[in-house]
Amino acid sequence: MTKTHKITLIPGDGIGPEVSGAVVKIVEAAGAATGAAFEWHRFAAGAEAFETTGEYIPQALYNSIEENRVALKGPVTTPVGGGFPSINVTLRKKFELFANFRPVKSLPGLKTNYPNMDLIIVRENMEDLYAGLEHVVVPGVVQALKIITEKGSTRIARFAFEYAQKNGRKKVHAIHKANIMKLSDGLFLNCARKVAAEFPQITYAEHIVDNTCMQLVMNPYQYDILLTENLYGDILSDLCSAFVGGLGLVPGANLGTDCAIFEAVHGSAPDIAGKDMANPTALLQSAVLMLRHIGEDAAADRIQSGLEQVYREGATLTKDVGGKSGTKAFADAILQAMEMPRTVPA
Ligand code: ATP
Repeated sequence: MTKTHKITLIPGDGIGPEVSGAVVKIVEAAGAATGAAFEWHRFAAGAEAFETTGEYIPQALYNSIEENRVALKGPVTTPVGGGFPSINVTLRKKFELFANFRPVKSLPGLKTNYPNMDLIIVRENMEDLYAGLEHVVVPGVVQALKIITEKGSTRIARFAFEYAQKNGRKKVHAIHKANIMKLSDGLFLNCARKVAAEFPQITYAEHIVDNTCMQLVMNPYQYDILLTENLYGDILSDLCSAFVGGLGLVPGANLGTDCAIFEAVHGSAPDIAGKDMANPTALLQSAVLMLRHIGEDAAADRIQSGLEQVYREGATLTKDVGGKSGTKAFADAILQAMEMPRTVPA
């Protein structure tokens, strides 16, 4: 019997409507073939929502996420240096989505300088400098507060180790700058160490964040799971996306105890918006994570195989990964690959 899932959909702005349009089409097709149906509850957020509702995050959107508990979100532009606070950060805080899970995995057929990458970034999602506590002390002096708590650090460390244990991952590296931020990053490390002691079968190590950047570029294969505070995780995510072909590829999940919001690592990329140039892979792989989260593994597998087939064949890729096709043609190629899967050559 077909099960209907209610999902809150935030198409977003910039390239958001293009990538989310492509992704919804593909998810619908995968669901139709595997016995899953979706009821999409669409909402604008950010500047676009403000124009029509007078709110950056309309109350109806909060209610919808609270009811559906699952959302798929395109990028929403955050103004730089002023304006309204980040929609992403506000939603993560509101629904206590404490874990940001970002798998960085190579796609078959795509030539990069780092083949066969498979690492995961587990980023604390609510604290650190993202607490948004900034104030002017006296004109010309601004203070930004970095908030690190025992509760937040312990639960993100536990998330990383539990994930490692359940999924056969071998190593967790806690990333820090505790040589300078002795108290805040020191607390983060102490919490990670305590949790690590409960998982003796998983190797635990600590790397300083600046050294981690160098180590990643020299030899990313030494890492398995990177456990990070909020800001370091944000920066390392963009860096690591380059290993697998760039920001157009890396998916993400914001996970809490009650709700989950799935969104790509990339932002709204206004430079290529509306030009049929955006790569929907990152949001599509976020949707795959979402389908697994709601127990629709058959639909997730179908999409993943179609996506991998299109990359393996390499004939219909978007420009960011060296192809010549647009967003729509790429999405159509995935739909076709899902319809007519070809066996993988030996
Ligand atoms: P934010 O800080 O809002 O997360 P960002 O700094 O990660 O944003 P993006 O808006 O993601 O920046 O874009 C950075 C560049 O990466 C863009 O200019 C664009 O060229 C490229 N890019 C990002 N996402 C995609 C995509 N899906 N397809 C193709 N190129 C992309």
